[in-house]
Amino acid sequence: MFTPGPTPVPPEVLAAIGAPVVHHRSPDFRPVYERCLARLREVCRTESDVLLFTASGTGAFESAVVNLVTPGEPHLVVSAGSFGERWAAMTTAYGADVDHLRYAWGETPDAEDVRARLSAREAKAVWIVQSETSTGVVADVQALAAAAREAGALVVVDAVSSLGAVPCETDAWGLDVVVSGSQKALMTPPGLGIAAISEAAMERRGATPRFYFDWERTRTAQRSLDAPFTPAVSLVAGLDVALGLLLEEGLDAVFERHVRLGRAARAGVKAMGLELFSPDDDRSAVVTAVRVPEAAEIIAGVRDRFGITLAGGQGELKGKILRIGHIGWFDVFDVATALAAIELVAAELGVDVERGVAVTAALEAYEHSTVA
Ligand code: PLP
Repeated sequence: MFTPGPTPVPPEVLAAIGAPVVHHRSPDFRPVYERCLARLREVCRTESDVLLFTASGTGAFESAVVNLVTPGEPHLVVSAGSFGERWAAMTTAYGADVDHLRYAWGETPDAEDVRARLSAREAKAVWIVQSETSTGVVADVQALAAAAREAGALVVVDAVSSLGAVPCETDAWGLDVVVSGSQKALMTPPGLGIAAISEAAMERRGATPRFYFDWERTRTAQRSLDAPFTPAVSLVAGLDVALGLLLEEGLDAVFERHVRLGRAARAGVKAMGLELFSPDDDRSAVVTAVRVPEAAEIIAGVRDRFGITLAGGQGELKGKILRIGHIGWFDVFDVATALAAIELVAAELGVDVERGVAVTAALEAYEHSTVA
């Protein structure tokens, strides 16, 4: 599986998920819950509470919307692809007065544009996507957040496909809300959504009615390890193990591995003579997007011949790009496998690709590169 989520799950994590189901208010679960929540704070690099919801990433994001938006209030949503546009639609659906800083899909948001928008019109919060999975672009969240904070706005970050793959310094960068999901770099099956919440965000909660996703309800309950609703206990047990693996490898080592995987994928794609859609720089450490008219045929071919699942384009990029995900439990051998399969199938389809060079280029880019 080479999609940008769900991603492959390590056997240790699967074993934890497959263990007998325990009761969520029993001593069998509480230590696991406590450790998992503590590890989440470490991975988010925050001292604040990280709330855990049985929901996908979109659910955790909706928690931010229902807790922060009061109808009629001004908000600034930055989008440059499918997920940013989803957040513009969601905040609008809840009645926010949305200023939508909308970039073309594949562009990289610029902090100066955020500054300019906020000087023209204030916003209670600025909503940004760290890794726009639909295009492969990873934004400079630190710079975007600084622009938002200068204007006194809260910063809400969609880190669904980036948390645990690229640096996301929640406290150091002043991020008020960081949302993610279990099924990407956190190497766990889909089903858990997380949201790290700053004290400032808690204090500026809005008036929208809410219940399941009410932050205060979950925060109070979590603090006494008494989940407000039945959590997906088996997934929490799996996530706990997965976070342990990440922390054991060391977050900085994990980030470096992802940079090198991105380099390897791009080197292989370029060596074959295919065109990159995602930027050719080290930020593109999550997804490598390739612009190729035969994208749909290549995706179907590698699936039929090798059982390899790639992702296609979403929305306006459907049929125009293919995406190779390399987040989470991946090493360079995986990337080399995906490249070899793409090369074989593309050549069979008559696409003009250079044969026999992609794997070597990828291995060299991975092995002979150090990350500053
Ligand atoms: N945001 C980003 C950047 C994503 O990649 C995804 C999932 O692909 C989502 C949000 C939505 O998450 P979910 O599908 O878990 O609701």
